[in-house]
Amino acid sequence: LVRLENVNKHFGTLHVLKDIDLDIARGEVVVAIGPSGAGKSTLCRVINRLETIDSGTITFDGKSLAVEGRALAQLRSEVGMVFQSFNLFAHKTILENVTLGPIRVRKIARDQAEKRGMELLERVGIASQAQKYPAQLSGGQQQRVAIARALAMDPKMILFDEPTSALDPEMVQEVLDVMISLARDGMTMLVVTHEMGFARRAANRVVFMADGAVVEQNTPDEFFTNPGTDRARDFLSKIL
Ligand code: ATP
Ligand code: MG
Repeated sequence: LVRLENVNKHFGTLHVLKDIDLDIARGEVVVAIGPSGAGKSTLCRVINRLETIDSGTITFDGKSLAVEGRALAQLRSEVGMVFQSFNLFAHKTILENVTLGPIRVRKIARDQAEKRGMELLERVGIASQAQKYPAQLSGGQQQRVAIARALAMDPKMILFDEPTSALDPEMVQEVLDVMISLARDGMTMLVVTHEMGFARRAANRVVFMADGAVVEQNTPDEFFTNPGTDRARDFLSKIL
């Protein structure tokens, strides 16, 4: 579904993505891990074109990401994104947060968008909060709304950048449970996370990044029990 070939990205003199080759198949769940500054967030951001790349190619569903205007807006609407900071609209209700994209971007009729929005809120366990405002919800609930909002656009893939890192520990699992259920339903996902339990349970593949490069990638079982590089061994010894 996504293919990165020889992708390079600099911020000034800083080389943050180095010759990245990465394929993510339809229905695959890939967990990206690695030390701070490895380029994990940048990887997510180039895949939905929040950042451009300096060289190499990225294709999404067979189409180049090197487009502008309507074609870019179309591509972006096919890739959902869930951030560490939930980024909900504070002055809109939970339901409005979920229906805004479908109504404005997808031109879906309001009543239809609301019906679907309620189904999605049901799915993430927040339907009873639909008329509240984000500040009235816990962090875990807000993040589940952010996931419902991403789903409302019917994305072909969802990128998660440390979706549970800002949460109180007791709220982490409720968000991971929603993500695990999405994974089981066949959603294509790239997930940057330190939650190795999630990686073991839901990932098809773990991609270990350091210093802007993909150092190794393997199944979670292989990666965790038998990392192939000193970098990965060293990293795992610090987080496990
Ligand atoms: P973390 O685990 O801390 O989130 P990360 O793996 O997500 O790290 P990135 O956020 O992708 O790392 O950053 C990679 C490198 O690029 C870092 O050195 C970071 O300081 C730098 N960087 C990221 N965004 C920018 C930017 N907009 N301008 C300049 N430098 C940036
Ligand atoms: Mg990051």
